[in-house]
Amino acid sequence: MLVDALFSKFGGENEVELCHLCARQYFGELETIDRAVDVRALVKSAGIAIRESNAGKFEGMFEWDNSGKETITLARSGSENRRRFTAAHELGHWLLRQTVLKGAAGVRYRSNDRGRASEEERLANLLAAEILMPLPAMMRLLSFQKITNRLVRQLSGRFGVSRQAFLRRIPQILNTTLIYLNVVPNRFKDATSHAIVDEAIYIVPGEGPFSDRDNVRLIRRISFAELLRQSSPSLGVKTSHGNLFATFDALAYNEPIPNADLLAVDVRFRVL
Ligand SMILES: [Zn+2]
Repeated sequence: MLVDALFSKFGGENEVELCHLCARQYFGELETIDRAVDVRALVKSAGIAIRESNAGKFEGMFEWDNSGKETITLARSGSENRRRFTAAHELGHWLLRQTVLKGAAGVRYRSNDRGRASEEERLANLLAAEILMPLPAMMRLLSFQKITNRLVRQLSGRFGVSRQAFLRRIPQILNTTLIYLNVVPNRFKDATSHAIVDEAIYIVPGEGPFSDRDNVRLIRRISFAELLRQSSPSLGVKTSHGNLFATFDALAYNEPIPNADLLAVDVRFRVL
């Protein structure tokens, strides 16, 4: 197992700490940085060539040849945050190759394929999260304050990552569960119609993250307007992994249609 080889090389109490200890060996700035890291500069500092491609078959690619030349190729399409995450993910492959994957010429792709990820892909993603949202900064910023939607928006912007990427990082840092829902009125322009889940991300201990809005719904029917009258609504939510009851932090928006973010950490799933 790759992860065992990494643990014996770097130590650490858990995989999140392990990835920090591994990445900081090569990128010392991860110890102190507290805002968006310049990922392309990290790539160059590692002596890796960086290219862009219009091919559209993959989001990113890391390849190396027998002469030792290493190249990261990034698709031109996609948001800047997505491209930054892809570059960091390919750097994750590079780190694994430096440490535990020594071998002949090869190539790794990052595609839109959401298939079952291999151990190497999982570790590349965890290393990418470490590169973009380093453990020491996250500990400082998340440990001593309430996790709210405003904080998530502020910090995801500051670190140059998508809100989804930031939400997935929180349970890794705080060793907690998390559920995020975006809700909208069932009839888009009518706030008196009942609230329905439009997007859902939740993390169960030892599993996930899951994003399956189709199987997530509010247990009790409540109008969108009524839900927003409460600044911290208490709601029951049904998921594929059990029901949960939590008090949510709520933040409402009017654009592009009325919608609201609901966020709760440290929730308990009652397994069905
Ligand atoms: Zn990959």
